[in-house]
Amino acid sequence: MSTLPNDPATMFDELSPSPRLLMGPGPINVDPRVLRSMSMPLLGQFDPEFTAYMNETMALLRGLFQTGNRWSLLIDGTARAGIEALLVSLIEPGDRVLVPIFGRFGHLLHEIASRCGGEVTAMHAEWGTVFDPDAIEDEVRRVRPKLLAIVHGDTSTTMAQPLAEIGEICRRYDCVLYVDATATLGGIDLPVDAWQIDAASAGLQKCLSGPPGSAPVTFNERVERLVLRRKHVEAGLRPADFVPPEAPRIQSNYFDLPMLMDYWGEARLNHHTEAASMLYAARECARIVLRDGLQETFARHAAASRALVAGLVAMGLEPFGDQRHRMASITGVHIPMGVDGDKVRTALLDDFGIEIGTSFGPLHGRIWRIGTMGYNCRKRNVLVCLAALEAVLRRAGLSFAGGAGVEAAYDAYAPRTDP
Ligand SMILES: *Cc1c(COP(=O)(O)O)cnc(C)c1O
Repeated sequence: MSTLPNDPATMFDELSPSPRLLMGPGPINVDPRVLRSMSMPLLGQFDPEFTAYMNETMALLRGLFQTGNRWSLLIDGTARAGIEALLVSLIEPGDRVLVPIFGRFGHLLHEIASRCGGEVTAMHAEWGTVFDPDAIEDEVRRVRPKLLAIVHGDTSTTMAQPLAEIGEICRRYDCVLYVDATATLGGIDLPVDAWQIDAASAGLQKCLSGPPGSAPVTFNERVERLVLRRKHVEAGLRPADFVPPEAPRIQSNYFDLPMLMDYWGEARLNHHTEAASMLYAARECARIVLRDGLQETFARHAAASRALVAGLVAMGLEPFGDQRHRMASITGVHIPMGVDGDKVRTALLDDFGIEIGTSFGPLHGRIWRIGTMGYNCRKRNVLVCLAALEAVLRRAGLSFAGGAGVEAAYDAYAPRTDP
């Protein structure tokens, strides 16, 4: 036994994080069923029971993405791991890429595409707005990109880009469509096949009610053909007759989709060690959404968003951005004049145990973002959050009828019947 004064074995207490209600842009409170799944016994990565769980997870992900895509699997890492795997495997140095940017995560797609060696063209929409599909078509016609990379719901601005027509536009110009659905999958409808989306990715910690650390992705045969042109097999695993491809090798080993396909597919070729506990979590996240029903889940998000906005408006606050395109999973609201946004967030956290989101870039200090995602997207959380916000804002000097916000949201959920 060590008796050093600063013995790390005795310096710290057992982990004991405070219970919080996480009503920000994610992460959110994890569904207890998902937490339980993560404590299940580990299996070897090629144990037939484990590979069966991998196959079940693929089937569940197809359900979530509403696709028949064989390649629906997990990338180990947070949501941006899914983005990187798709972009680094698709983009060969010099490829033209078009990125419509309407918030922070559009900038992220642009940056990752550039790092992959793409010749990237950006188009910009003011934060709080989205793109007219005609404007995207004009730019696709002009740039003739190999890939269009776009965010579905940009959590930074709380706006959702209409995507129903974009896939068809991309097909007409022989362009591949990639969608970042991190903050919308499992909260807002995204029928991947019906909308002709070629590839999409997400994370667990938003509408899927899981912890950060696993990225569901899906991609179709158009993408499969493109990435297989670059198929490489590691020395030590490859058969003697393997012929390396002409096309440039994918720059990342960890995110090399053809190698991941060999791991998740029948070949079961060794790649990384699948993050087993995260796979259990992802499987349970997807299972819960599908068991609850996709349409029922989308309706629950839409109802929470309507009630939250009704409550905010009743308190005299102004929702942010083009309301026709607001995300159901997160709501932006202007910080009222004369109110210190960060002080309000601190009071909510310290006095009520509730976290809401700040914002980035041009919106910093101008809006708060209130999430209604997945497991947290339910009536009682919307009501509790509004009640707390109201108390804090009244203390900060705003005046409105006490209870106005909560009651408006309560009414939005269930109109009163006359007694
Ligand atoms: C949260 C988010 C990301 C980043 O996710 P990480 O899990 O932090 O890597 C990417 N895109 C969108 C739209 C997001 O909302």
